[in-house]
Amino acid sequence: MEKIICSLCEKPASVNLQYAAKHLCSGCFVKYFEKRFLRTIREFSMIKPHEKIAVGLSGGKDSVVMLHLLAKLRRRLPFEIFAITIDEGIKNYRNTTIHIAKRECKKLGIALKVIIFKEDIGFNLDEIMKKTNSSACSWCGVFRRYLLNKYARIENANKIAIGHNLDDVAQTVLMNIMRNEPIRIARFLEPITNDEYFIPRVHPLLRTPEKEIAIYAMLKDIQIKYMECPYAHFSFRQHVKKQLNDSEEKYPSTKIRILNSFLEMKKHLRKWMKDEKFKLFHCKKCGESSSAQICMRCEMIMKLKNMA
Ligand code: SF4
Ligand code: ZN
Ligand code: ZN
Repeated sequence: MEKIICSLCEKPASVNLQYAAKHLCSGCFVKYFEKRFLRTIREFSMIKPHEKIAVGLSGGKDSVVMLHLLAKLRRRLPFEIFAITIDEGIKNYRNTTIHIAKRECKKLGIALKVIIFKEDIGFNLDEIMKKTNSSACSWCGVFRRYLLNKYARIENANKIAIGHNLDDVAQTVLMNIMRNEPIRIARFLEPITNDEYFIPRVHPLLRTPEKEIAIYAMLKDIQIKYMECPYAHFSFRQHVKKQLNDSEEKYPSTKIRILNSFLEMKKHLRKWMKDEKFKLFHCKKCGESSSAQICMRCEMIMKLKNMA
């Protein structure tokens, strides 16, 4: 069989980037991957010198690889990093990823804060699932976002770095379209209105396909465990993920096109929302910023207490 040669040098290729019509050897792939990461940070001015960045570290491959890339970037750009891991209390799953988060932070000399659902919310996710019949992710997502924001602010972080990759972003955009949620699309990735209580989020992997993160981790010997949250299987996201992977297979670049069209659409939606005088409140119960008088987190806790 004929050997495929790297599109950028003479070495045998080991990675096929179908959307870019390129075959790369492992060395060129690593450079390409790291350059795209830096370019994305620059494109959206994600990190400025001397800022303090809270890394949302779940212990999964995306956030661990992002932690390594940010730690490397810190050698060139003066900024601070620390990590926050949220322990939702998911049996036979979260303990393993927390162990990975601790190990990687220790390796890189990065401080880590583990925030426990039960201590703030009063329930862990397994308990919530025993009480309710609804999707775990809708409860978990609200509480995780709330806790990340709160503890990043307590630690005086300027930004929160989230390890969402290109696949995650394309899925979220499609999910919001399929659910007819234009406001969520406009708000996705950045808030409409600035608020001192809200710590802006940055997504340095938003142009990076999920598959490539796994390849990069393998080539750089970043030890990762492939585990899936036991609740993920039942989510709407899984359904959209399958459809999107199928489309990408048949029509390469689908995910990148969704991302680019989202970025374009967002500009117009945000303008429209500013005209609509979109208002932010401070929750009457917990004081955090919210799009209503009582935030989703407090509404959900009340619901859970009433179910007891
Ligand atoms: Fe939470 Fe859903 Fe993610 Fe599991 S998959 S950690 S339930 S958001
Ligand atoms: Zn090469
Ligand atoms: Zn609240």
